Amino acid sequence: MTDTVKLAAGRAYLAIPGPSVIPDQVLQAMHRPSPNIYAGALVEMTHGLVPDLLRVARTQHNVAMYIGNGHAVWEAALANVIAPGDRVLVPGTSHFGCGWAEMARGVGAEAELLEHGTHARWDLQQVAHSLKADPDHRIKAVLAVHVDTSTSVRNDIAELRAVLDEMKHPALLMVDCIASLGCDRFEMDAWGVDVMVAASQKGLMVPPGMGFVFFNDKAEAQRNTMSRVSRYWDWQPRVHPEYYYQYFNGTAPTHHLYGLRAALDLIHDEGLENVWARHQRLAQAIWTACELWEQGGGPLRLNVTDPDLRSHAVTSLHIGSPDGTRLRDWLEQNLGLTLGIGLGMAPSDTPDWHGYFRLGHMGHVNGQMVMGMLGGIETGLQALQIPHGSGAVEAAARVLAAR
Ligand SMILES: *Cc1c(COP(=O)(O)O)cnc(C)c1O
Repeated sequence: MTDTVKLAAGRAYLAIPGPSVIPDQVLQAMHRPSPNIYAGALVEMTHGLVPDLLRVARTQHNVAMYIGNGHAVWEAALANVIAPGDRVLVPGTSHFGCGWAEMARGVGAEAELLEHGTHARWDLQQVAHSLKADPDHRIKAVLAVHVDTSTSVRNDIAELRAVLDEMKHPALLMVDCIASLGCDRFEMDAWGVDVMVAASQKGLMVPPGMGFVFFNDKAEAQRNTMSRVSRYWDWQPRVHPEYYYQYFNGTAPTHHLYGLRAALDLIHDEGLENVWARHQRLAQAIWTACELWEQGGGPLRLNVTDPDLRSHAVTSLHIGSPDGTRLRDWLEQNLGLTLGIGLGMAPSDTPDWHGYFRLGHMGHVNGQMVMGMLGGIETGLQALQIPHGSGAVEAAARVLAAR
């Protein structure tokens, strides 16, 4: 009798770029009966979340909390500062830049999207050119994605700020940190960011369902010049609530709040600088393994060749169709390891789409998880007889072993 041994039972590992791994502390904090939403512990706890969220964003200013995902806070941020007919400038590095630009069009803005491809940094000369062509300052905001989760390009926010300053353009700098907050270094105030959006299910390690809009005084002043702001998205009552209901314009996301409390404790107990350093070292181990797999005539390629442009939270890879999908399917079925689909690199209705995949390494991820993921991929490459260079896992071990 020939039996194939099945190896997928055991704790599954979802290594996709969000939702990320939820820590046991977060799960346990959420496992409780419904609390009173009018007074008592929940109310006290919610006040306390605000300063700890501001610390993660490195800002002294404000944060409004929403029930919603990343798309919700894209819209929430725009609804407060962009009126129909206003213009926004979007230097895009693929999928998520386009998505935010589309959202801006949906609230009646004219969005100028600068396409910079899927592998490279944005072209600041083009940004400067567009700002220069706007002497009347109809551009009210520049919408930038810190880490584009489709390509895994990490953009330099401080250099974009410098261009706005050089051009003396008053547009708000609005940044999507949905994939980078709590993973890659981000300094909202020091980098001159006026508005920043984030969501619960990536570096913040909480299930999807909460979003955050951080904003400074300049953004608040722009909000106050608006002739009207959508009642639901208005950040004003959410940051200056006179009674508890106003935090969320209705019932609070009770259990998410307990989960968020636990997640913020994890981040601040580890220390934000340490959290960033951990993500950086783990990412370096992943890149090292990938660079070795690239050798030996194999088809695997890191999407971003310049390490300075690579995210520490997500890695986008090309392996050729249909091996991206074959590898993902094999790992899930045989090892209990789920990798992310390719996004924004090829249309989803084309064969090329099956040539990409992504690794999520954001949030609650440590050395043994990354070594398990890399060992799993190596196993899949062998099982499917996809050519690849040797020594990748060993080289990753050396990166993590180094002091
Ligand atoms: C995940 C993600 C989004 C979208 O978030 P949803 O919660 O799926 O709506 C937007 N931008 C970036 C950079 C992301 O990583």
